[in-house]
Amino acid sequence: MSEQEKAEELERASVDKNSGFAFHCHHDVLAEYVTDYTERVAYIKRCKPKSEQELRLRLFRLIPEDRLPPEYIKARAEYDKAWAEADKAWAEVDKARAEYIKARAEYATQLGALHRELCPNCPWDGKTIFPMEDK
Ligand SMILES: [Zn+2]
Repeated sequence: MSEQEKAEELERASVDKNSGFAFHCHHDVLAEYVTDYTERVAYIKRCKPKSEQELRLRLFRLIPEDRLPPEYIKARAEYDKAWAEADKAWAEVDKARAEYIKARAEYATQLGALHRELCPNCPWDGKTIFPMEDK
């Protein structure tokens, strides 16, 4: 989509932003947060059936932020913030998992010796404590 087309789409949407809450971004959702309005318009033109495009494009509108209840906007911001924190937490989980996998490999021999010492008469075969049932 050219800059001129983007400007026209935003003008049609009566807003100067490319993101925000919008009506009918998807056919089965009344209002939702849109991160890239012009890209969604381009996607509708590129991928949606020709017979649906006129209606989709006519109804898909960014909602002026000053028309929305502040609490509604705040709720969305809190949701975004929670996701950002979750993403950060998952990055920490991934890092810790990698460290743990590295430690398991590094200490496998030591752990095996400790197991033999502390777990006498153990049927553990390296995969299960029920080696006969497994076969
Ligand atoms: Zn054991």
